[in-house]
Order: sequence, then C-alpha cells, then structure tokens
Amino acid sequence: MSNESEMNWRRPGGEFENGVVVSRADAVINWVRSHSIWPMPMGLSCCAIELMGSGGSRFDISRFGMEVMRFSPRQSDCMIVAGTVTRKMAPVVRRIYEQMAEPKWVVAMGACATSGGLFRTYSVLQGVDKILPVDVHISGCPPKPEALLDAMLLLQKKIRTERSLSSLFLGRETRDPLRPTGTPEAGA
Ligand code: SF4
Repeated sequence: MSNESEMNWRRPGGEFENGVVVSRADAVINWVRSHSIWPMPMGLSCCAIELMGSGGSRFDISRFGMEVMRFSPRQSDCMIVAGTVTRKMAPVVRRIYEQMAEPKWVVAMGACATSGGLFRTYSVLQGVDKILPVDVHISGCPPKPEALLDAMLLLQKKIRTERSLSSLFLGRETRDPLRPTGTPEAGA
C-alpha cells in the first residue's frame, strides 16, 4: 500500500495514518458488534424452514458473519423469531430473551411474528413486539431467505448508529422500553 493510499484508507468514523488508527469509541464498538452477530433461532413454525434455508449453501448467511446460530441464550445476541407466537409460548420466548446477555437485538421474521399473520384468534399473539423490543420486522408469508439476509443487513446498519458507550453507563433498561424499570430478570 502506498503512503498516499495509506493516508486515505478509511473506516466508518475513523482514519488510518502511519500505523495508528484514530476513531470514535462508538464507531469501533458498533463496527465490531455489527460484524459478530450470533443469532438465536427462535423457530416456532413454518417460517423456521426459511430460516434454516438461509444457512444452506445457496443463500449462505455465513457470508455476512452471522452463521453461528446458538441454541443457548447465554451465547447469542440476536433473537430471530420465526413463526407463530402463541399466547402459551409467549412467556417462554420472553424468558429466553431475558436470559440473553446485553447487548441484544430482535428480528421478527414473517407475518405471524410481525402481526399474528392470518391467525386473528385469541390464542395467537398479534405481533411479538407486544413482548419484545423488535429491531427489524420482515414481511411475507413466508419471507424468503433473501428477506432475512436483507433484514440482517438492516440490523447491521442500525447497530452502527447506536450510542453504545453511553448505554454501557446508562444500564440495560434503556435498551428495552417494554421492561419497566425495576422488573426482575427471569429466574432471578
Ligand atoms: S408467516 Fe406464514 S410461513 Fe411464516 S409462520 Fe406464519 S403462516 Fe407460517
């Protein structure tokens, strides 16, 4: 790399000069977080098949560094709710979300997770945003894996605009407007 191109080499919010990177803390934290998303697949019905498809060779979610699907809330930071959320299942979904460490994000995949879909009935939650702070909604019944990839790229963009440093000091309540201050964690 020539000196001139080295001087012009840039990352969002930062500069590289003579071997020294100068940037804002938020830009660095958000850049790292947005490129190391570990999804928690909350597959509840048919949309989960499309979610599984995104991990196959045709769509290959690993191109974006998001293929490390974890089935433990301790090891994941992005819950992808794929499918119909029944009222019976809702407390379980909420509990698993609360067991995930901060920072964490939520993607509602498909019409059912977004709004209850075609199930206008007493037994189905009319949108998972009633119990979780959803960051990205995906329309469709079912949405294709491309739609999920698009949503994950949107989520990356959103993460890059967050004020991560200040939220570290303000506490987790600021990240979850649905949980009243002082509400105990699940299992506490
Ligand atoms: S949105 Fe359609 S495909 Fe997805 S869970 Fe609901 S009914 Fe199934």
